[in-house]
Amino acid sequence: MPDLQEPIIAIFGARAVAAAIMTLLMLALHRNFRKDYLLHWAWAWLSLALYAASTAVAIGLEIQYHLAVSHPARMATALISGVAGNLQMVWLFFGCYELIRRRPIKIRASRFALTGASILGVVTALGGQLRVARPEDLIDLTSSGPRTILYAMVFIAGSIYLLQIRGHKERLGFLLLSLAFALWGAQQIHYLVATALHLLPDVAVPYATLLGFLDLILQSVMIVAMMACLLQDQSEASELATVEIEHLAYHDALTGLPNRPLFIDRLIVALAQANRANQTLAVFFLDLDRFKDINDSLGHNIGDQLLRAVAERVRRSVREGDTIARFGGDEFTLLIPRVERIEDAATIAQKIIEMLKIPFIIGENELFVTTSIGISLFPNDGADPETLVRNADTAMYRAKEHGRDNYQLYAPAMNARALERLALENLLRKALNQNELILHYQPLIDLKSRTVAGVEALVRWNHPDMGLLYPAHFITVAELSGLIVPIGNWVLRTACKQVRHWQRKFGYEISVSVNLSARQFQQPDLLAQVAQVLEETGLPPHSLELEITESSAMQNSENTIYTLREFKALGVRIAMDDFGTGYSSLNYLKRFPIDTLKLDKSFVNDITTDPSDAAIATAIISLAHSLNLDVVAEGVETEAQLAILTREKCDRIQGYYFSKPRSIQELEAYVAEHGAIIVR
Ligand code: C2E
Ligand code: MG
Ligand code: MG
Repeated sequence: MPDLQEPIIAIFGARAVAAAIMTLLMLALHRNFRKDYLLHWAWAWLSLALYAASTAVAIGLEIQYHLAVSHPARMATALISGVAGNLQMVWLFFGCYELIRRRPIKIRASRFALTGASILGVVTALGGQLRVARPEDLIDLTSSGPRTILYAMVFIAGSIYLLQIRGHKERLGFLLLSLAFALWGAQQIHYLVATALHLLPDVAVPYATLLGFLDLILQSVMIVAMMACLLQDQSEASELATVEIEHLAYHDALTGLPNRPLFIDRLIVALAQANRANQTLAVFFLDLDRFKDINDSLGHNIGDQLLRAVAERVRRSVREGDTIARFGGDEFTLLIPRVERIEDAATIAQKIIEMLKIPFIIGENELFVTTSIGISLFPNDGADPETLVRNADTAMYRAKEHGRDNYQLYAPAMNARALERLALENLLRKALNQNELILHYQPLIDLKSRTVAGVEALVRWNHPDMGLLYPAHFITVAELSGLIVPIGNWVLRTACKQVRHWQRKFGYEISVSVNLSARQFQQPDLLAQVAQVLEETGLPPHSLELEITESSAMQNSENTIYTLREFKALGVRIAMDDFGTGYSSLNYLKRFPIDTLKLDKSFVNDITTDPSDAAIATAIISLAHSLNLDVVAEGVETEAQLAILTREKCDRIQGYYFSKPRSIQELEAYVAEHGAIIVR
């Protein structure tokens, strides 16, 4: 028989040599292409080489030297072929996984699989050795029982998997590899069946030789398949690289946002659409204020992280269809393809400004950032990308000039008043934060005792350029924009604090009147706010008089009554301001639980000249008194007016006749000069 066994040895030898060559080839390719799957495949081929070589040696030892199964040399070859055969399979699949998934296999998973395969190899090799009693069963060394089944299953499953994954069907490499796996699996099944039927011992060696050849052919198919895979992978990788390069060309590397060229591209498209649909489009130019300081003091690394965080925040505060781009440095642009009203653009700008005001936590630093935004609009401010961007940029500079931390519209895009209003709102917002608002206090004189019974707090804006501005200039804007709420809160707190201070200083309970706007009056937490201010300042509730107007009381009269009752319960007094203008229905006086009626100055103005006005005033005062209300006359400027009001037993007088609204010092001087008793 030895002469017949020799071809088998030769074939295993040839397979070993082919596999070894393949190992070297894979290593060389790996050096070139730096793909990890090539390394895995190199180990797979090396294992196969070891497996084939050790099998050849095993057969040689058996046939030539008639060594017993238990001989250490035979044990060693069996172990090597057992372990190497398994490892070959594992590495083969590692390679495929990495090729398909484009990511490395996890270290733990790979260790686990390799150890498992090795242990399995040792166990089956030892088991096989024990079972192999007859030399005819030699072939069992490689294909005995369970392991053969496992091999077959794994390869066939691998083949099906390769066929199924993401459209790899059309790709020759995967197709070939799948075919090679399928054949390999079929070959294993064939071994199994042949062994089970004892086919192999009978037909003996020529058949085995044939099988050996078949293995060699499959091995070659696999080599070709792997080469095809590599080529495909390379071309795909270069495609991906092209996409990536394109991305890099159109995106900012630091933030991942579109860059200038892409922004202009999108603006061109959006302009065409806006033009067709007759829509307004907005371009924002954002520039962080004093970013350079942060960069210089904390370093570029922190600066970069801040820019990334800023980009993220802006991205989150705009809608999906909007394009936010980084123009370079700390400059960003924003394209809003459709704005219904110009105010919408302003709202978005304000939202971004507010969003960026929330401190950034970068590393251990808490960074405070403000932003200046310029806005240009299509079609008003330009029809082409360059003009729009340039104009937005110009507007941004205007925002910087206006003291940063605000937005500016490029040009009169709406009528001049609306624009002015927006500008004013912008400035007013800052005024509140920068303590440009101050309060003046106008004395309310008690007619009976002729003392300063209280003061009305009246807000003023100490504008750095325009000087002292009166409420007529800004209260409407504050109400329309909602700014009246924070402003009103500030007024309330400041006035209560000041008057509490005076109560201590003057030694008697001077009261304070604070105006509430309709908007404030609708705030659900107004009562809580007032209660908190009283508690914080220590002002007795009955020393506070809140002034509401008829119009604000009427906006939701049921609610108003409820709110007023709650204030009553708190002990705070309520005055109806400007009575005699507007709706002026005596009906309200009964329905609303108020304490004081303030006759409007226009009304008071006429009582000396218009007899019917005087009659009405007299009637109102007596009606108010019958309803148990205090009456305050506003705008009393003359002795004659005072005389009538005194005669009609008006309770308190407010007006230039006694005093204009005064600053803190002026009011203190007034009280000091006249004492508590006013002797005019
Ligand atoms: P008001 O509540 O009726 O305040 C009285 C206004 O009449 C004050 O004008 C005061 O300076 C003015 N005045 C007082 N005596 C005389 C007088 O003898 N002759 C004339 N011609 N005017 C007199 P001011 O300070 O310009 O305030 C105007 C309005 O602005 C206030 O009317 C009030 O409705 C509103 N306002 C003022 N401060 C605040 C505030 O803090 N919050 C709210 N929501 N509104 C305020
Ligand atoms: Mg008032
Ligand atoms: Mg008034």
